[in-house]
Amino acid sequence: MQPAEQPAQPGTLYVVATPIGNLRDITLHALDVLRSVDLVAAEDTRVTQGLLAAYGIQARLTALHEHNERTVSDKLLGELRAGRSVALVSDAGTPLVSDPGAHLVGLARQAGLPVVAVPGPSAAATALSAAGVAAPHWLFYGFLPAKARARRQVLEGMAAQPWHLVFYEAPHRVVECVADLAVVLGPHRELTLARELTKRFEQVVSLPLGEAVAWLEAHGDRCRGEFVLIVAGAGEAATPDEAEARRILHALLTELPASQAARIAAGLTGRKRGELYDWAMAGKSDRQREA
Ligand code: SAM
Repeated sequence: MQPAEQPAQPGTLYVVATPIGNLRDITLHALDVLRSVDLVAAEDTRVTQGLLAAYGIQARLTALHEHNERTVSDKLLGELRAGRSVALVSDAGTPLVSDPGAHLVGLARQAGLPVVAVPGPSAAATALSAAGVAAPHWLFYGFLPAKARARRQVLEGMAAQPWHLVFYEAPHRVVECVADLAVVLGPHRELTLARELTKRFEQVVSLPLGEAVAWLEAHGDRCRGEFVLIVAGAGEAATPDEAEARRILHALLTELPASQAARIAAGLTGRKRGELYDWAMAGKSDRQREA
């Protein structure tokens, strides 16, 4: 017997996951709620209007995005207190996962109002399932900083982690981001690029980090669309010592030529100069690209 429909209840905030590409990936529970709720708070009302139209749903929509989240959340709290039901959705995937909504959910919880998550797609989980990551542990980071220096600093801080690392990235930054992953984490770790998941041009490829920029640049289309990047953990390939050596080398390379940086880094870390020089050269083309 099919489970009964679950329409929205008064005074309840629903946090509703929506498809990340394939509109058929909506859940029955999400449709129940979106059909019956008093108000839908959407990151971009035009995007959500498209989803609702595909299912013949007419709903009262209001915009809630990173620029108005605080003021709109206060208003929505008033609606919830008045007994109206509200569904929070983002453009794609699970709200609050690299998406707005945390303020509203926090307010509702503090006020003791019911908050119901309606689970569904998320790009990170979809990428992990498509990539076939066998490791039992992974760290979700989301978006790295847009600026190179800050991005590399963040990556240096996680270089020694043994767990797979999961990032989101925008198409216009994917090449520079992948270049930095190779420089800071080393060229040998496996990267899985999961692009346009659940969409027509979905592509999931795994390759060593050191080959990823060339792969992306081999065809213009490969840099298009939305990306999840999964990088294998440090494992045995990069001990904390190696991560520290890479960090020192990388810092020296910002001021010195490769041979000099390798010599000084060898003196500081006790590692072989040739090995450090090879690491420096592996990242050289990426640094030139950035300059
Ligand atoms: N809340 C969403 C979720 O649950 O996955 C993520 C929102 S975040 C603003 C958007 C990012 O998610 C994109 O830049 C991309 O990195 C990733 N993403 C979303 N849809 C994707 C897809 N179909 N394929 C690959 N990555 C996707």
